Amino acid sequence: MTLALLGGKPVRPNPYPPHITTGKEDMEITMEVMREGILSDFEGSNNQWFLGGKYVKMAEKEWAAYFGAKHCISMNSATSGLYAAVGAAGVGPGDEVITSPWTMTATAAAIVVNNAVPIFADIDPETFCLLPDDVERKITPRTKAIMPVHIYGHPADMDGIMALAKKHKLVVIEDAAQSTGIRYKGKMTGCIGHMGIHSLNCHKLIQTGEGGMVFTDDDDLAQRLQLIRNHAEAVVGTGMAVKSLVNMVGWNYRMNEVEAAISMTQLRKLKTLQEERYLLADHITSGIKKFKGLLTPTIREGCEHTYYRYAVRLDPAAVPITAHTLVEALNAEGLDWYAGYKPLNLFPVYQEQIAFGDKGCPFKCPLYKGKPDYSLDSLPNVRRHLKYSFSTENVRPPLTIADMDLMLEGFDKVYKNMDKLVEWEKRNMKPGNK
Ligand SMILES: *Cc1c(COP(=O)(O)O)cnc(C)c1O
Repeated sequence: MTLALLGGKPVRPNPYPPHITTGKEDMEITMEVMREGILSDFEGSNNQWFLGGKYVKMAEKEWAAYFGAKHCISMNSATSGLYAAVGAAGVGPGDEVITSPWTMTATAAAIVVNNAVPIFADIDPETFCLLPDDVERKITPRTKAIMPVHIYGHPADMDGIMALAKKHKLVVIEDAAQSTGIRYKGKMTGCIGHMGIHSLNCHKLIQTGEGGMVFTDDDDLAQRLQLIRNHAEAVVGTGMAVKSLVNMVGWNYRMNEVEAAISMTQLRKLKTLQEERYLLADHITSGIKKFKGLLTPTIREGCEHTYYRYAVRLDPAAVPITAHTLVEALNAEGLDWYAGYKPLNLFPVYQEQIAFGDKGCPFKCPLYKGKPDYSLDSLPNVRRHLKYSFSTENVRPPLTIADMDLMLEGFDKVYKNMDKLVEWEKRNMKPGNK
């Protein structure tokens, strides 16, 4: 069979269906909100509406109970939640926050938006999550916080990170946008650090279209998050317990009543949706294991995995092509894989060090005494994963075992034509993709 990349027929002629998690329950609760007609009930004043409407309050209570956290603070996105959490932690000009470059842009943007400087540490050779050993090497007197990301849905090494935080008195903010509902050593991800953020955008495990949830067990942080969410500068000084003005800038990160209502019906099916993912993931794992040199996701002891993205590593000693070539071939077959991940340190904002205004703030702010290294030099695992890893989000409902089998058929075709792909790679090798 000729590879579709070389003019053959693709194994999957039809595109993947969209990610649908809504059903009757979501429609009914939406109609309930609509009948009542109050689509948001927030006010940016120190009064009874400061904490939002009926559904926002109900949702926060239900989410906090499900996750076993003292406080849940809803937001209009996980991005807003991350921005608010870094602000609530008191991070500001002159500070550094250490995070992973192997993540979605909002993780590091949350640091920049608070006028601090992100420092990128290397990632685990198997799980793609932040490596505590490299975090420790990068701690300076300027370090204020660590932001681990449970990337693809596998937990970061939270024991290692929490031990560092304790030793160096740092705040830990978990980006749990991809790991909603899974545990690390018995604890829910997003509820292990001082604050943790989940996403409810349309791509995530469950969704409200847009939305985010922040967890904390700390009363002071909870109130700071609530203030930052809702026009803080107009409210601090009107009898709130929080007196500090640090980072109390007026954002509007409020979730509306429809989203809050749907967040409850979605949460109630999180477990079932995850179980469907496990069936698909187990099937694809046992299939992919049969191909020489393909390494399926590692699950560390005491960990679970959402398979939000299903990532495969390639052993260059056993496979003669890079992930880029493999992905070109798979995608020509109508499959939907992605090679590597664009590491955040290579984004222009960090390479050029231009964010606020044109004078290099916050990177060259006079209050900042460091000099960040945004090269790949100290990130060897990132460099390797760029070339030898690839992932897909299509291991999720409503896809079925038949869809997984088609995916495996694509891999089989690629493996049967490996010599042709080696030639193709030689002809098409782009500088930098080697
Ligand atoms: C999706 C995602 C976000 C942002 O979530 P939004 O709700 O879309 O703002 C942040 N971090 C990670 C790792 C994500 O995957």
